[in-house]
Amino acid sequence: MRRAAIARNIKWSTPTNWGDLEITINLSKPEKDPRDIAAAGAAKNTGEKYPACQLCIENEGYPGRSAAADGGAHPARQNLRIIPISLNGERWGFQYSPYAYFNEHCIAMSSEHRPMHVDRKSLTCLLDFVDLFPHYFIGSNADLPIVGGSILSHDHFQGGAHEFPMMHAAEVSQFSVPGFDGVTGAVLQWPLSVLRLRSHDRAQLLDAAEKIILAWREWTDESVGVVAHTADGVAHNTVTPVIRRVDSRGNAGGEIYEAYLALRCNITTDEHPLGVFHPHAEYHHIKKENIGLIEVMGLAILPPRLVPELGAVREHLLAAKADASYDLAGALEGDNLCRSHAAWAEDVYARRADELTADNAIDILHEEVGVVFGHVLDNAGVFKWDEAGRAAQQRFIDSL
Ligand SMILES: [Zn+2]
Repeated sequence: MRRAAIARNIKWSTPTNWGDLEITINLSKPEKDPRDIAAAGAAKNTGEKYPACQLCIENEGYPGRSAAADGGAHPARQNLRIIPISLNGERWGFQYSPYAYFNEHCIAMSSEHRPMHVDRKSLTCLLDFVDLFPHYFIGSNADLPIVGGSILSHDHFQGGAHEFPMMHAAEVSQFSVPGFDGVTGAVLQWPLSVLRLRSHDRAQLLDAAEKIILAWREWTDESVGVVAHTADGVAHNTVTPVIRRVDSRGNAGGEIYEAYLALRCNITTDEHPLGVFHPHAEYHHIKKENIGLIEVMGLAILPPRLVPELGAVREHLLAAKADASYDLAGALEGDNLCRSHAAWAEDVYARRADELTADNAIDILHEEVGVVFGHVLDNAGVFKWDEAGRAAQQRFIDSL
């Protein structure tokens, strides 16, 4: 890990309807376009590239190669050391993330270069992981484009010692999963549609979680835009699962198994070509990437471009405050760094110009970015927090 680079990352938290959301601008990770991720996930591994991807265990000690080299650019990993672990009887690798989004951010990767999948096997691996490391959470990205993470082509998980905002979300109601008396289900007050299961009994928790995932994969409710399969046979529903072990007070490392199942659907429409349950176009100036595992849990990983962009927006807002004749709209539109933020920045100015000073301007912008992140998570929720959404969620739970 390059701790000096990580220390430069910018972090804050913003109070929202969903509790305090956590925001980081990660200066070391490039922003990816969701369409490129989908293409990479669909690409066949011809076996010609070595290592086949950035998560393969063959990266350990790899010297790297340039863009001009056969197979294209691949970063050097000479100082990477992977710890062998066993999950579900298979050989996996364990390493800490070079990006360190949070405390002890770690990655577990299959020793085999194979696609992401969310099913009984992956849940078993997740449960084995928390039995090996009871003080860590572990989660998997979803296994479909748009709602998955940035790498679909290599089976892997992310974990660590952090407690995420989602883990502090209030419990709105409880439910039971028929046939699993030892499992307590809860609906969480969270922008994404998250069902939490708890049990002392690992086997029952696994069976109940699998049942919910299988039911969700077939669940269509057009009244809220959820479509399990389109006429072309393509599947759209999946789950982002997170597993922890907690004690009776909810502290990590106890004897109670906990599963968070975030219900996802990657359906697209003409109105939302990048995804109905994906950040909507009006928020792409802040976040256009997939809402992956870490963000599902309430920690935003935002792109480095926001540092110069927010800095430039700040200058224009302060100029407008200092001079009533300043053409704020024109200045934002005319500045390459600010154009994408223009409508949002004008709205912030209209609401908050009175309190704006040189000292607090960046904090105000950060707070407003946090508010946008809350909206983006709400976009990703399949069952909204209106009457129709709540009723639709109840229909799904009742179907179990
Ligand atoms: Zn790989």
